[in-house]
Amino acid sequence: MQLLEYQAKELLSSARVPVPPGTVVGSSSDYVPEKYPVVIKSQVPIGGRGKLGGVRVVKNFDEYNEALATLLQLDIRGYVPAILLVEQALQYTHEYYLALQVNRDQRRIECLYSLFGGVDVEASCNDIAVISCEATDWKDIIATKLHIDHMKLATLLDDLYDCLVTNDLLLLEINPLMKTKDGHLMCADAKAVVDDNARFRQTALPWSDERRITPLGGSIGIIANGAGMAMSTVDTVVAMGGSPANFLDIGGGTGEAVFIENIQKIMTLPGVASIIINIFAGITRCDDIAHGIIAAKRQLGDLLSLFVRLEGTNKDEAVTMLKKENIPVLDTLADCIHGAMGVDI
Ligand code: GDP
Ligand code: MN
Repeated sequence: MQLLEYQAKELLSSARVPVPPGTVVGSSSDYVPEKYPVVIKSQVPIGGRGKLGGVRVVKNFDEYNEALATLLQLDIRGYVPAILLVEQALQYTHEYYLALQVNRDQRRIECLYSLFGGVDVEASCNDIAVISCEATDWKDIIATKLHIDHMKLATLLDDLYDCLVTNDLLLLEINPLMKTKDGHLMCADAKAVVDDNARFRQTALPWSDERRITPLGGSIGIIANGAGMAMSTVDTVVAMGGSPANFLDIGGGTGEAVFIENIQKIMTLPGVASIIINIFAGITRCDDIAHGIIAAKRQLGDLLSLFVRLEGTNKDEAVTMLKKENIPVLDTLADCIHGAMGVDI
């Protein structure tokens, strides 16, 4: 899960990492800054906002109001922000690039750093160096390269490292890390990606249960787990002459409530006549999925025709459970698609 900038900054702040004081505002907010300039930043889960007009520095009340209205409507690569982050604008003399990330291949946490950060960092990506945080002198090496006081940078890196580990982050990127006019280091931007597998213990983080149902206009509803599985199910339906009603990756570790909610949502799509449930259970178990389907059937009563294909862990238990409820489990996706199209199986 990628956090929004303001959420990442909350984690930083809790880890004693310096971030500018800020306030989150939405369309109905009546917050007015006490002093200017302030920077207003679109809270969308992607980078490159600066170049797309999603970061504005404003000098007075009129500019502030105008920027607020504009940014709340500004589409940034498909995302329109629900909220904006308003911060005291930093007076800075330099922008660095700093990131910590988990490198799974190398089984280590490493630090990426560059003397030059900011919106053009992609263009200068050759200048980004990498060092393992297991190297004994990694903090000194970085401090030397960035011309930053060693003690100051060591403290910052220790706190960032702490933040990464305690929150189960896979990536914590500060771009830019700003050197302010009065000589302090300040994280002007932050990107944090949380390891989804840590959800069970990171209960305080803002996990979202929202799964996106993308309507596709056809008659066959689709529930699959994994984006690849969901896409190939959509493709196979089309290849066999059917018309998909939607795309949905229902994700792993899926509970009953999620099934009920999503089956309900798919049933409201115009023209939908049946639903294919195509699951490969690895971490999720087939019997958990069966519980979800059965709960949905009980709760929603007269369901649309369901065509279920399950493979993986505890398949046999799941098939037995579903059969008891008169929900047939078919052997292949092709059987499901034929069933959904009303072709005899
Ligand atoms: P991104 O483009 O999505 O990575 O958004 P950033 O938060 O990194 O902002 C982009 C650029 O806006 C930064 O590189 C800065 O040049 C500028 N910027 C961001 N925050 C401030 C600020 O507080 N003061 C000033 N003057 N500029 C800022
Ligand atoms: Mn940035």
